[in-house]
Amino acid sequence: MFISQIEILYSRIASKNNNKKTFHKIIKNLVELLRGFNWVNFTKSKISFKINYMIKDNKFELFYKPIVFVSKCIEFEHCRFNGNIISSDTVKVLKDHVDFITHCPEVEIGLGVPRDSIRIISQDQELKLIQPKTNTDLTQKMNDYAKVTLSSYKEKNIDGFILKSNSPSCAVSKAKVYPGSGKYRHVDNSPGFFGGKVRELFKDTIIEDEGRLRNFLIREHFYTTVFTLAKFRNIMIDKKPADLVEFHSRVKYLLMSYNQDKMRKLGKIVSKAGIKNSNEDYFLLYYKGLKDIFMKMPRTPNIINSIQHIMGYFKNNLSSEEKQFLNTQLEKFKNKKVPLSVPLNIIKSWVIRFKNEYLLKQFFFSPFPDELIEISDSGQGRNIR
Ligand code: SF4
Repeated sequence: MFISQIEILYSRIASKNNNKKTFHKIIKNLVELLRGFNWVNFTKSKISFKINYMIKDNKFELFYKPIVFVSKCIEFEHCRFNGNIISSDTVKVLKDHVDFITHCPEVEIGLGVPRDSIRIISQDQELKLIQPKTNTDLTQKMNDYAKVTLSSYKEKNIDGFILKSNSPSCAVSKAKVYPGSGKYRHVDNSPGFFGGKVRELFKDTIIEDEGRLRNFLIREHFYTTVFTLAKFRNIMIDKKPADLVEFHSRVKYLLMSYNQDKMRKLGKIVSKAGIKNSNEDYFLLYYKGLKDIFMKMPRTPNIINSIQHIMGYFKNNLSSEEKQFLNTQLEKFKNKKVPLSVPLNIIKSWVIRFKNEYLLKQFFFSPFPDELIEISDSGQGRNIR
């Protein structure tokens, strides 16, 4: 079956049926029809997710589109105070894989483009948002706007935020604070007025500034988080205990690489999810626990622990030289001499070679679409963990 035929089929289905559950089942069946294609990319069609079908292992993988909020001046609109747009390779490459929500707080509170710049000023131990040239105090206006706008997204399950660094409105943490409107040096740093509100209202959500995403470890952690959460949100549609069991089984080694104790606590939630007539929403509990695990980057010893657990599956299949080789690479990874991809690809090659069905399905080996793998880095990657 050709892609165009599938798209026609999809549009016929979609025109008759907007029900998400039915749509989801139909898509699963469609995927079965796709045997024979290595890569099927639906992102440019009306279907809002990618299907990565790996014919070699006779497996398919669905990557659901995460919902990511981004400052509008990053790759979307020329809305900076001087009419500029910010270039970001990360946002650019994500456009095909993510559903973006974009806002420009300064434009949306009525400041035009171009506009006189604004700054954060510390006055009487209070922070104010001021436009020095017009001597306008925008504090109340921006606070009200941020509260109303962000509250409207509280129920939308945003998977992550990418905000413009250093901005007095959008910055996550490092907007400059000045002592006054004149030609002063900055005296402190603070979140921007909008960025600060994001942090206050979305405490359990990953929030990154666009500058930090130039670091490949931070970037991969961000991708892993938003794509795993998007996958789980798909399970929340039907809330079938069997799907939860399957998800937890597939995410096991990924979660182990973040936090083994928290991974086990999630396992306990899974074991209760099938209890009939329970008042507890175990899917929601699991979702909250999942978000919590991803609030911190994985630590190197935990990643090594995950790989060593996987290695245990092959202890009777490998020569002592092969095992020694992997251990040497793990030691180099620990000492920041090689990237994670080196030991990971060795063990992945064993998983493929010995056709271990359970491990082949682990998200640990491909937590996000391969096209997002990009090793360019700000140069600080080795010192992040
Ligand atoms: S940083 Fe925020 S407020 Fe400033 S231009 Fe970008 S989106 Fe608009």
